[in-house]
Amino acid sequence: MEKLISYLIPVYNEEKNIPLLYDNLKKTVSGLDFDHEIIFVNDGSQDNSNQELTNISRQDEKIKIIEFSRNFGKEIALTAGLHHCHGDACILLDADLQHPPELIPQFLDKWQNGAEIVIGIRDNNNQKTFIKKTGSYFFYKIINKISETQIIPDSTDYRLLDRVVISEFCRFTERNRIFRGLIDWLGFKRDYIYFSPPERINSKPSYSLLKLIKLALSSFISLSLMPLKIAGYLGILITLIAGMIGSFILAEKYILNDPWQMNFSGSAILAVITLFLVGIILSCLGLIALYIAHIHCEVINRPIYVIRRKENF
Ligand code: UDP
Ligand code: MG
Repeated sequence: MEKLISYLIPVYNEEKNIPLLYDNLKKTVSGLDFDHEIIFVNDGSQDNSNQELTNISRQDEKIKIIEFSRNFGKEIALTAGLHHCHGDACILLDADLQHPPELIPQFLDKWQNGAEIVIGIRDNNNQKTFIKKTGSYFFYKIINKISETQIIPDSTDYRLLDRVVISEFCRFTERNRIFRGLIDWLGFKRDYIYFSPPERINSKPSYSLLKLIKLALSSFISLSLMPLKIAGYLGILITLIAGMIGSFILAEKYILNDPWQMNFSGSAILAVITLFLVGIILSCLGLIALYIAHIHCEVINRPIYVIRRKENF
């Protein structure tokens, strides 16, 4: 039987790009030996995207549309698409043609050679602004230091996912999600395709700097417990330092009767005592953080294991 490939495209204010992408994609996929379905997830666009989508879906029954009631963000749009796709594999593309459909045969080749996840990696990023470039450099540096899952720098959402990966992905129940992070967490056999994205045509990228920063923050929180623990470590450090200074003052002034004539003032002593107490409070916060971390792990309710294949059940 012919295998079915789903193409999943999140759309947010892309009225000009939709017909272009559709033509381009259709040209590529009709030359392949696979059946296809094309799922557009309209993520609450405020322009004419909806009309454009309806137009093409009237001519082509392979087009499926999911329309959100408002803008939920790309991560959620991709999730909804994966929940609704039927393919033996699903390829995720951006609507702005920055993920060239011409690469699709390469993705499918790697898939047929056994890869369960094929990831598109950007191999040039001259178009990014300096701020975005430095931001992304530090983002990957930090996140790979503090989180249990490694994220490959410059990997994009241009990906192919095998059916096994999609089924496992559908078991995630956490709400604040970073799509790439979750896919990377899942494991599975991966392969990579390098490409240089063309300039975004029509309109500006819809991810503003602020939106990117929010995304980065929620990645840190959802992929790592480190920020919670930092307060605790800081507290222990402060307690130790203040404790040492305090003991020194105590010994010097009251036990040895100030042999070095240091004359610690009352306010200096008060400052050290305060610092010591602050340290204790912070350490306690760190302790509470550990409990919260525990609760956090329970409530995000990640699947506790991921199975690739079961036999003779
Ligand atoms: N997108 C979306 N919801 C949003 C923002 C973006 O579905 O809130 C879609 C957008 O239509 C495009 C893709 O996500 O298909 C990537 O968006 P963009 O090109 O702005 O991001 P970048 O290329 O900078 O990663
Ligand atoms: Mg783009």
